[in-house]
Amino acid sequence: MNEIILCKYGEIVLKGANRKFFESMLNREVKRRMYLYGPCEVRASQSTITIDPKSDCFDIDGAYNEVRRIFGLVGVSRALKVEKDMDAISLALRTWAPTALAAYKTFKVEAKRSDKTFALNSPEICEACGGVILSTLPRLRVNVHKPDVVVRVEIRDTAAYIHAGQDKGAGGMPVGSAGRALLLLSGGIDSPVAGYMMAKRGVKIEALHFESFPYTSERAREKVVDLAKKLSVYCGEIHMHVISVTKIQEALNEHCEEDYFTLLLRRFMMRLANKTADAYKCQALVTGESLGQVASQTMEALGVTNVLAEMPVFRPCIGMDKEEIIAISRAIDTFDISIEPFEDCCTVFTPRHPRTKPVLWKVEREEAKVDVDTLVNEAFETLYTIKITRGEADSDTLN
Ligand code: ATP
Ligand code: MG
Repeated sequence: MNEIILCKYGEIVLKGANRKFFESMLNREVKRRMYLYGPCEVRASQSTITIDPKSDCFDIDGAYNEVRRIFGLVGVSRALKVEKDMDAISLALRTWAPTALAAYKTFKVEAKRSDKTFALNSPEICEACGGVILSTLPRLRVNVHKPDVVVRVEIRDTAAYIHAGQDKGAGGMPVGSAGRALLLLSGGIDSPVAGYMMAKRGVKIEALHFESFPYTSERAREKVVDLAKKLSVYCGEIHMHVISVTKIQEALNEHCEEDYFTLLLRRFMMRLANKTADAYKCQALVTGESLGQVASQTMEALGVTNVLAEMPVFRPCIGMDKEEIIAISRAIDTFDISIEPFEDCCTVFTPRHPRTKPVLWKVEREEAKVDVDTLVNEAFETLYTIKITRGEADSDTLN
């Protein structure tokens, strides 16, 4: 028996005139990722992508797991591909039904006949297939109104497909269809979730991490690489840029009032993020900030950082509770890495009494005590890039 994978498009079917653009982007992504599992044919028609293995060595279990992580698809199912002939279909149903329908008590058959030359019409196909299933599994009952499972028999142009049930796909939009943004990625719980959420809306993610060696360790950076690897399962290849803010933190520590350290550091991060986004053609920034979560995330504190932004800043976690963010981080498998106890540059030189209602002119007065432009330019020169592909970190620097 030949097994294939059927994938249903999500929101892109609503895209009107632009639908072709989204479809071809999604098909390309499915092709790229399915070829990793062996030879196969990927075809799109009628809001469905069909993945048809072309060799026994195609890893259909691996491919099925993978396809459930591709944004833009709302439902996936495994189907039998059989010859377009009622005897062949009946034989296949007899072999397939005992396992495929083992968990159900009631069923109904739905038939779709795209090939109008097929001898039986849809009601006749339903009747014939329902009869075969009932004779194979006499304990099952037909329920046309509220069945536990719908068995679908599709007569397509080249073959017949039989399938039942559907798993949820990743949803969202194809990655890359909504532009490119720079994710400020720390080692915490929130920023990987923020990156995942924006990627789900079709944003191609590039990452920026600030380190503060020797105050932060090599292991702390590896932790962030591990997080980016997990994200790349959904987002595809990620270029993670790393900038050292050691000199900036030392200057702030030496010259500025302690209460302002975190705010001032965040303003430097914003300037460096603008510069990095510009250099790597990103159109927006993404952070994991959540309103009121810490002192630097009050409305006033976000305000004194946000004034420096030169492009839209997306904060998809802004209205979420920590518990909600954690639920997503568990689902995308970043949580266990995020809670590893390594320091972040934001936890170095933390003020004992951070300002929660900062006033912009006072922040600027504090900031004027250091040479902002030189510090920013020098920090930007420390930038190096780690290319993270398919869960593998390629530690080659790109520049
Ligand atoms: P997270 O769980 O994402 O670390 P957090 O609750 O620890 O969030 P902060 O440390 O205040 O919050 O950081 C807020 C946001 O600033 C982060 O979500 C991230 O986008 C960005 N950020 C913080 N530290 C770094 C860093 N070292 N490198 C890059 N971005 C950072
Ligand atoms: Mg953090």
